[in-house]
Amino acid sequence: MKVVQCHLCASKNLTTVLDLGFHPLADFFMKENQLQEPERRYPLAVLLCQNCGHGMNSFIVPAEVRYQENDYSYDSGNSKISVQHFTEMAEEVVKRANVKKGDLVVDIGSNIGTLLNAFKNLGSEIQGVDPAHNIAKLAEKNGIPTINDFFNASSCEKILKKGKAKVVTITNAFNHISPLDEFMECIVSILDKNGSFIIELPYFLEIIRKKHFDVIYLEHVSYIAIKPLVSYFKKFGLSITHVEENNYMSGSIRIFVGYGQESELVEKQISLEEKSGLYNLAIWNTFRENVKKCKINLLKELVNVRVDGGKIVAIGAAAKGNTLLNYCGIDTTIIDFATDASPLKIGKYTPGSHLPILSDDAIDRSVTHALILAWNIADFLKAKISPKFPHLKFITLHIIE
Ligand SMILES: [Zn+2]
Repeated sequence: MKVVQCHLCASKNLTTVLDLGFHPLADFFMKENQLQEPERRYPLAVLLCQNCGHGMNSFIVPAEVRYQENDYSYDSGNSKISVQHFTEMAEEVVKRANVKKGDLVVDIGSNIGTLLNAFKNLGSEIQGVDPAHNIAKLAEKNGIPTINDFFNASSCEKILKKGKAKVVTITNAFNHISPLDEFMECIVSILDKNGSFIIELPYFLEIIRKKHFDVIYLEHVSYIAIKPLVSYFKKFGLSITHVEENNYMSGSIRIFVGYGQESELVEKQISLEEKSGLYNLAIWNTFRENVKKCKINLLKELVNVRVDGGKIVAIGAAAKGNTLLNYCGIDTTIIDFATDASPLKIGKYTPGSHLPILSDDAIDRSVTHALILAWNIADFLKAKISPKFPHLKFITLHIIE
């Protein structure tokens, strides 16, 4: 579905700030028998609302296609870093949102239940909601009660049987939601009047600040910043009561929303967004040119390695890696295979580029270079692989300023 109006303010005054061409879904890792079938690609471009500043993709792939047509491949418990991050998040939320033992915590897009498990350990009553069938099954197996559905009126009815929620969390999924109004009405229906709705996700500002264009992919309906959200939440009688940035996914923002007073941190965050040029089309024009240069530089580096007889693998088969591979047109001509630690990905193929995904053990002495796709855990990946293969050279995505 082509996007013609802003998801937050309904303005039709939308400007394309970056166009990355046509892409397959980034989170659909393919099975071998799917390689011979036609592969669907959709336009991937970012629009900026000239009225409220909201960032969004120019095209929305239906949610049923995104999450239910194939097995979903992201597993929130797939690294020690994630488990530790969500454990600390639960501890902070319990303190800041004044969560008492037995209070209900609902997590939307609860995945295998990593965050909810941390709340459970702190004495909360928990409820997950996740539309992916394979993932919800794994969660139930882990002892996390999970409604296997989208977060809609019918799931809210089930949740309300347990009472109103003191906390509703959504991590790395609020940017996947469409339509947002319907979603927010559901939030209001289950949130306790003293409750907090907490959103955490990659911060839109980081795309401009750290030049991370590969966090743009089809599953991301929206790119979230603070300025457009303030007036949007007011529509629902809600305000941002706290906001903080953290380093998860190499730059996330955690937003507390509730019926209390707006935090003074909100103004500071908006001023940072404005000063950094997030709403400035001239800054986006420069960024767009730099993304093109990045593609040329990366291809030059990889082709030179191949011409010199080197062998390249890609490590960390993250969804964002698929934006990079497909935007740059990289396939098995250049990269032999990709590696990942997740059993949900090993044995499958990267969408579009069709690199086979193997376990990290598949790297041997014949491999000379490793392109790090999961740059947010680059240090962790290097520390894991370098001791065994000290000769291995790492290539990371870098944008020329
Ligand atoms: Zn707008």
